[in-house]
Amino acid sequence: MLEINCPYCGLRDEEEFACGGEAHIARPLVDNPISDKDFADYLFYRDNPKGVFLERWRHSAGCRRWFNVVRDTVSHHILEVYPIDTKPSTKAGRAAYQASWRRQSPAEAAARKVPQKTRKTSISKR
Ligand SMILES: [Zn+2]
Repeated sequence: MLEINCPYCGLRDEEEFACGGEAHIARPLVDNPISDKDFADYLFYRDNPKGVFLERWRHSAGCRRWFNVVRDTVSHHILEVYPIDTKPSTKAGRAAYQASWRRQSPAEAAARKVPQKTRKTSISKR
């Protein structure tokens, strides 16, 4: 049995949590230029490594909040727990984040907001 340190509630049994799968999957913006194949890669492909893996977890029987975990899938040892909108800070977590094929994927590039051009708005006179 795992014990997971919820960043909001503290150490709890694994039974209180639900795993949400791979973390750091960026959703392409609605208006994106990627192909159907690249979108399918984003939507359906998930990593399942032997070793360090970045996962999303939810404290479903507690605060119901999501957070990320760096976990070794062989030993089940949790190396780090960190907020959902941040990146891992441990060396192993950062290496796993950078090594993911997603960092170079068209879907992830399409998830970044493009700075909008400043538009000149005209006020119509009636
Ligand atoms: Zn919690």
